[in-house]
Amino acid sequence: MEEYLDRILLSEDQIKKRVAQLGAQITEEYQGKDLLVIGILKGAVPFLADLIREIKLPLRYDFMAVSSYGASAKSSGEVRILKDLDSSIEDRHIIIVEDIVDTGLTLKYLQENLGRRKPLSMKIAALLDKPGRRRTEVYPNYNCFVIPDEFVVGYGLDYNEAYRNLPYIGALKPEVYTEQD
Ligand code: 5GP
Repeated sequence: MEEYLDRILLSEDQIKKRVAQLGAQITEEYQGKDLLVIGILKGAVPFLADLIREIKLPLRYDFMAVSSYGASAKSSGEVRILKDLDSSIEDRHIIIVEDIVDTGLTLKYLQENLGRRKPLSMKIAALLDKPGRRRTEVYPNYNCFVIPDEFVVGYGLDYNEAYRNLPYIGALKPEVYTEQD
């Protein structure tokens, strides 16, 4: 294990198996539907890349970038669109793919914003759910893992843009925060 990690929460193998299960479930539920998968940059990239290859249906994908967090580990609660979708979602079945739902403020904003664009249906798939810190009534429809209230990195999740390429999810050692903050 890397020296900056306290421990590994989810191994590469655990993630792979769970993502395959979720892909199979979505494959069943979206038979015959025109599916658009929307990845939220940048954290959802590895999850989206693995998930779409486990969905055995024709689909399209697009990306949106929003910011709710600065360089630090705390949520400001403010959400801004940094990059919008390339195409319309009107009359499309969409699945929003997020890395983690923490306070839920980002997803609440996305649900309201995308909901106004009149998709036929809208669901949320999150790799991780941290329900202990929820500040709104927003819960993912599809969720791979529920985790405790800890700051995690890897498999797309960063700290100051680092660690996104770890193939597993781990908790950082407290001294890594204190050195950089
Ligand atoms: P929310 O709006 O639900 O509080 O925050 C969602 C976003 O916060 C996630 O998409 C992610 O970028 C960031 N975030 C929340 N918890 C964590 C965490 O434990 N680790 C990392 N790296 N990012 C987190």
